[in-house]
Amino acid sequence: MKTLVRSLAATAAFVLVLPGAHAQTYPSKPVSLSVPFAAGGPTDTVARALAVSMSKALGGTIVVENVPGAGGTIAPTKLKAAAPDGHSLMLAHIGMSTAPGLYRALPFKPLEDFEYIGQVVDVPMTFIAKKDLPPNDFKGFVDYVKANKDKVSMANAGLGSASHLCGLLFMSTVQADLTTVPYKGTAPAINDLLGGQVDVLCDQTTNTTSHIKSGRIKAYAVTSKARVPSLPDLPPAADAGLPGFEVNVWHGVYAPKGTPKPVLDKLVAALQVAIADPAFIQRMADLGSVVVSKDKATPDGLKNHLRAEIDKWTPIIKKAGVYAD
Ligand code: ASP
Repeated sequence: MKTLVRSLAATAAFVLVLPGAHAQTYPSKPVSLSVPFAAGGPTDTVARALAVSMSKALGGTIVVENVPGAGGTIAPTKLKAAAPDGHSLMLAHIGMSTAPGLYRALPFKPLEDFEYIGQVVDVPMTFIAKKDLPPNDFKGFVDYVKANKDKVSMANAGLGSASHLCGLLFMSTVQADLTTVPYKGTAPAINDLLGGQVDVLCDQTTNTTSHIKSGRIKAYAVTSKARVPSLPDLPPAADAGLPGFEVNVWHGVYAPKGTPKPVLDKLVAALQVAIADPAFIQRMADLGSVVVSKDKATPDGLKNHLRAEIDKWTPIIKKAGVYAD
């Protein structure tokens, strides 16, 4: 009996000291930062730049892992089941707030199943098309799409992706039900756009900027309220024919529920260093994006924004009547 009591006491002591001891040695192996979309795409681009800056601050390696599929819902489903020890993280975008409206049976609860490290960066989107699409400005683009709605195809990264959301808003605004073509991310989507296999796409500047600058695709407008400094020739869609049209793709870092507080504190501190890193800020600015302020790169900053965005998008999506099972 004594032995049993002693060994129970030892176990309890071990459990009690584990989080603290763990935080001192954390990270004890490479940290995985999962991305819900394909390699080479916009979310992946943000993740890889962030991983470099956060790794330095954390004193360990952060490895980006692409977990694409099902409109970006597979990565959070896997994160929910991962060990809550700080070695599994995820960078996800606005899709975390559109998924509850879009999926009847979502395998995770965005506001309950995770720990929230903080927001990272806001990224506008761009309306782009294959090079030989006839229109040369946004008004012409909208007229062309309306007149040719039976033959224009629009790519996206699956139900719940930012490109899907932007396409959904665009199609309902211009009242044109286009043929949509889903991919595992907008990196493969843009490859097909470059090859002329698909006609149009709305995608983040983090993916489209270099292609726009090279002149290999056509670009018509940005989805932000104001012009984007790195793409000064593109008008906001709201000023060029679609009043009120706005999509801002925000990003956040998540950890599995139950990750020890001292480990979360280390991660939040590393994120704070990353968002102040001039190299990260410059890389994001070159790609048309804006790194968030310090108060947003916090657990409350992310969770409150996620809640507000779920409240904003769910009724819009329900009204549009789009669902995935
Ligand atoms: N961000 C893209 C989207 O949601 C997907 C990707 O990152 O490849 O459309």
